[in-house]
Amino acid sequence: DTAVELRHVYKRYTTRRSKRGAARVVDALHDVSLSVARGEFVSIVGPSGCGKSTLLKVLLGLTKRTAGEVDFGGGSRMGMVFQQPLLLPWRTVTKNLLIAQDINHRLSDREARERAEAMLSMLGLEEFADRYPGELSGGMQQRVGIGRALMHDPEILLMDEPFGALDAMTRDQMGMDLLNIWERDRKTVLFVTHSIPESVLLSDRVVVMTPRPGRIAEVIDVDLPRP
Ligand code: ADP
Ligand code: ADP
Repeated sequence: DTAVELRHVYKRYTTRRSKRGAARVVDALHDVSLSVARGEFVSIVGPSGCGKSTLLKVLLGLTKRTAGEVDFGGGSRMGMVFQQPLLLPWRTVTKNLLIAQDINHRLSDREARERAEAMLSMLGLEEFADRYPGELSGGMQQRVGIGRALMHDPEILLMDEPFGALDAMTRDQMGMDLLNIWERDRKTVLFVTHSIPESVLLSDRVVVMTPRPGRIAEVIDVDLPRP
């Protein structure tokens, strides 16, 4: 059961230099093929500039691929978590979880409130429901960011270096928290990180990209018991 499949995907950025300069061409994705099973936790590692963000952007539809196919098995609802939690400081934690609801009113207000409550309990943040982001630690704020991404029950959770702004200890703790969430929810996760240990610890498979942008060097099956 496939959640998403990329077949021979290419993304070329062409940047026009000012006045006399020639156009600069970057192949940010070069013949990328990857199939992710439903419920699988896949991480993507590689040095800065190797095309990790571009891969997520292509999946989100934030940028158009130059060639190739992207196939979302059942549906394509996606949740996105960025390096910064991007919470609205003037809204409480609960109100931050309800942002999408307040815009699209997809659920009844009651259902949405119940979902937010369940989410806070899953995240271990019940006591902070009515607090403001500024009163929370960085790790807690990022947990709210993850909760917000899960509020509309996405088929795929995309995470771009979600713990990159946290200190090392919080980062390790957040990795464990994410695993707990994943084990309850079995969401398909695509997790971008610079950290090879983190990728090995958390995921079923590690996609290693090469410094030369856009290419997959290898895909490693992780066959370790999870902590
Ligand atoms: P990563 O997320 O691994 O750091 P990116 O996907 O951001 O890598 O970038 C891959 C390559 O594409 C880099 O060489 C980067 O400079 C280039 N790039 C990314 N976005 C753009 C853009 N909008 N225009 C031109 N080049 C870009
Ligand atoms: P990351 O934190 O993933 O490495 P970057 O700092 O490389 O992200 O890129 C930040 C933003 O700038 C992205 O939206 C990316 O698409 C854009 N970008 C990156 N490289 C270039 C480039 N060479 N030309 C234009 N835009 C770029």
